[in-house]
Amino acid sequence: MSEVFTGNFTQQEPLPQASLDAAMAVLGHGRLHRYNLTPGETGEVALLEQEFAAFVGAKYCLATASGGSAIGLALRAVGVKPGDRVLTNAFTLAPVPGAIAALGAEPVFVEVTDGLVIDLDDLEAKAGQAEVLLLSHMRGHICDMGRLMEICDAANVTVVEDCAHTMGATWEGVQSGRHGAVACYSTQTYKHMNSGEGGLLVTDDEDIAAKAVLLSGSYMLYERHTAAPGAEVFARHRMETPNISGRMDNLRAAILRPQLAELPRQIGRWNERYRSVEEGIRGTPGLTVVERPEQESFVGSSIQFLLKGWSAGAVGEVLERCLKRGVELKWFGGAEPVGFTSRYAHWRYAASPELGQTDGVLSGLMDMRLPLTFSIADCELIARIIRAEVGAVFQAREG
Ligand SMILES: *Cc1c(COP(=O)(O)O)cnc(C)c1O
Repeated sequence: MSEVFTGNFTQQEPLPQASLDAAMAVLGHGRLHRYNLTPGETGEVALLEQEFAAFVGAKYCLATASGGSAIGLALRAVGVKPGDRVLTNAFTLAPVPGAIAALGAEPVFVEVTDGLVIDLDDLEAKAGQAEVLLLSHMRGHICDMGRLMEICDAANVTVVEDCAHTMGATWEGVQSGRHGAVACYSTQTYKHMNSGEGGLLVTDDEDIAAKAVLLSGSYMLYERHTAAPGAEVFARHRMETPNISGRMDNLRAAILRPQLAELPRQIGRWNERYRSVEEGIRGTPGLTVVERPEQESFVGSSIQFLLKGWSAGAVGEVLERCLKRGVELKWFGGAEPVGFTSRYAHWRYAASPELGQTDGVLSGLMDMRLPLTFSIADCELIARIIRAEVGAVFQAREG
């Protein structure tokens, strides 16, 4: 009998007791709106903003209703207008081109490498086409940030970082999100902290920070922020900036603060699981592990591998055989979008020329979540199943 995995790829851990207690305190007093404060009270959202700013080493932080809303606020705050073109990764998830489209702007997709990062040569070639790059650190893979910033600085391109998968990761010791002008994180259930929905935006630029706060729907209560610039900065923007609403509330901030304190420990646990699967699948015939650069310290909340040059039929067979044994792989090369997984050709609101290199990488790209509810033994079992099924299909097709 072959082994079967029975775990659930979408089951998170319960929140820590401190989050439950903090949530009950907020529910007990009823002041869920971030600006609903008693005299002298700072509020859970403002405290979260202070703590997250300190965590990444940023001057300013704004908590938002979602990661996608943080990206939308960031694009508006750096001045993207309807009709503008915005550079972005061809390999990312739908909220990224969606945030650009929501502004009436147009994505210009940049190719992906087989290291799963933005192709810097293609970026350099296209840098003259836009004033802003929305850089998605998709699935936690970080490109050479030194070279990326050189390209963007030389072409006067403002960098907005989508750190939905790199909260807590670093490049050459610098927190992900601290290279560009502004960075956005998500606290949606499948990311590194879980408030159901939610986001965080950080920047060192006082004008971007003030505009983001006003855009998020601060009314004229921005002085209740503690990780924001002074009133004199707001005075420059308060009458010019529309309120598009995208605030976080005290309940979600209350459950996030204890999770932020735990994040470094959780990152260690994710990476143990990642390394266990990686070791288990390394050396499987026909399978390529995505090697991680030494400058990167990542958060292994998901793992990817490549079936390079495989036909769609053979990849489909691997998916099916793994699923029969309880291992849910996602494929970025499918003809139709499935669940969270889609690719640039599916985003038909955004016209794009065909990107041959990206098509080649995505056609063999397999992706798997690693929730912390999996034990190391679970990860070892999953790796054995992948190794056996990829090996079997490869052998049958080769032989
Ligand atoms: C989750 C995610 C976002 C933000 O999504 P929300 O669901 O709005 O928090 C942005 N980019 C990527 C790559 C994501 O995976």
